[in-house]
Amino acid sequence: MTVEEIKQTYSMRDILDRYGIHVNRSGFASCPFHTGDRTPSLKVYKNDFYCFACGAHGDIFTFVQKMDNLTFREAFQLLGGNYEKSTVAARMKIYHAQKAREMEAKRRAAAWKKVKDNLGAIGRLREEIPKLEPFSDEWCEAQNEMLQQLALFDYMQEEDGLWSH
Ligand SMILES: [Zn+2]
Repeated sequence: MTVEEIKQTYSMRDILDRYGIHVNRSGFASCPFHTGDRTPSLKVYKNDFYCFACGAHGDIFTFVQKMDNLTFREAFQLLGGNYEKSTVAARMKIYHAQKAREMEAKRRAAAWKKVKDNLGAIGRLREEIPKLEPFSDEWCEAQNEMLQQLALFDYMQEEDGLWSH
């Protein structure tokens, strides 16, 4: 849970309950932060507390910190917070999404380069072949290359999925 989620989950009263501190009908409790609070001086609000005798005040996290002598982080974790975990997970997610986008951009750039080369080769062969003597070695070689380039063209249309984008 995040800080906000914890605040929405636990009221100040819920936290006092955890420590077995009774809140009277006027919303006051005996202050655990100063001694001899016979007349309850700790006013319990929905999300905060304030002691009219010793001035102790804060929210649910402050209360837990003061009660158990904890750092904010420890109190936060005690109440079910997992800031660190969710932040790392969120960062990893962003990192992987970025990497995936980069990979996809590279893949598409490489695929487009192949298409460009392929179309260039086809165009060049279309001009070259009519100039060659039919059935000569050069002509056969050029025809053979043309067939390969056309096959590659068909293959790329299906494999790279570039045409559907
Ligand atoms: Zn007090």
